[in-house]
Amino acid sequence: MVDLQTQYQQIKADIDRGIQQVIDSAAFIKGPQVGAFQEHLQAYTGAKHVITVGNGTDALQIALMSLGLKAGDEVITPTFTFIATAEVVALLGLTPVVVDVDWETMNIDVEAVRRAITPRTKAIVPVHLFGQCANMDAILTLAREHHLYVVEDACQAIGARYTFPDGLTKQAGVMGDIGCTSFFPSKNLGCYGDGGAIFTNNDDLAAQMRAIANHGCFVRYHHDFVGVNSRLDSIQAAILDAKLPHLDEYIAARQKAAAYYDKAFADEEHLLRPGHEAHSTHVYHQYTLRLIGVDRDKVREALAAKQIPAMVYYPVPLHMQKAYQDPRYKQGDFPVAERLAQCVLSLPMHTCLDEEQLEYITTTLKEIIHS
Ligand SMILES: *Cc1c(COP(=O)(O)O)cnc(C)c1O
Repeated sequence: MVDLQTQYQQIKADIDRGIQQVIDSAAFIKGPQVGAFQEHLQAYTGAKHVITVGNGTDALQIALMSLGLKAGDEVITPTFTFIATAEVVALLGLTPVVVDVDWETMNIDVEAVRRAITPRTKAIVPVHLFGQCANMDAILTLAREHHLYVVEDACQAIGARYTFPDGLTKQAGVMGDIGCTSFFPSKNLGCYGDGGAIFTNNDDLAAQMRAIANHGCFVRYHHDFVGVNSRLDSIQAAILDAKLPHLDEYIAARQKAAAYYDKAFADEEHLLRPGHEAHSTHVYHQYTLRLIGVDRDKVREALAAKQIPAMVYYPVPLHMQKAYQDPRYKQGDFPVAERLAQCVLSLPMHTCLDEEQLEYITTTLKEIIHS
């Protein structure tokens, strides 16, 4: 599914030098690499504040902790996403309110968000699923009308660009009040362990989130509230700082592979290609097909027999998860998400796919579908 080894070989000298510098200085935590990477990421994204943390899930948790919400406050998320999006809401004693997604883009359905808003709603957490931004213009308009916070889950979409009707283009993670991303190794900008970052243009939220991530202190050993310990370590920062200058090339390589897939499957009625958000670029964290009229799991097994990995992101929507059983929801409530869970299949997608591999994957998949 991913080829991190080939990518490493291409920038080995920079990565090795960065890691060695951290070891030589022994500043494993809060070394200068962390500050340098934060600055470079700020310049890249255009965010006023970048706060690096331990992982993407922590980023989401810290973001929600900073909003001063109370037990029972409602937070709207899509039901078709990675569990972390709703997990942090539940962990904080807030009430996750899930909504359906769009069949074409697989992103949160804004009309469903509108219908889910109640007097207790405090925030919306749109997910830029698989690498393209949700319909942020409509989401931000809705949030303004109802005085809601918007926390973007941009864990899969770093580097995706969204253009507003006035022509202004912004990056994933810097459109809402807060944005969160992950540097999990297989993410589009991945480190060699765990890592994450939070983006905001709001000075007060930034100060609050820095304190939350640092045991609730503004001044060392003086704890104003209960916080957490979450930080990016210096070695991961050095690795990310070596990779960040290549992020746009990496995105272009993913887009090129996606274009190959799109062309190869253009006439396949059983293989629906990913639909596009009108105003967003797609950075293809995943290339996800919808399989129609064929048994998705059998196709996946047949691919595996030909040494082609393919993954199901995600087989069970949030409202059908055991841990999230809730009398408010039952099977059938979110038909699009439930149908997607049955039919999605993500193909290998990374920065080092060559034509030979793409040709093998696409011809093999077409043979399986027609056999
Ligand atoms: C990866 C991911 C996360 C969590 O990131 P971690 O770094 O693994 O904690 C959250 N949301 C989405 C949509 C993700 O893809």
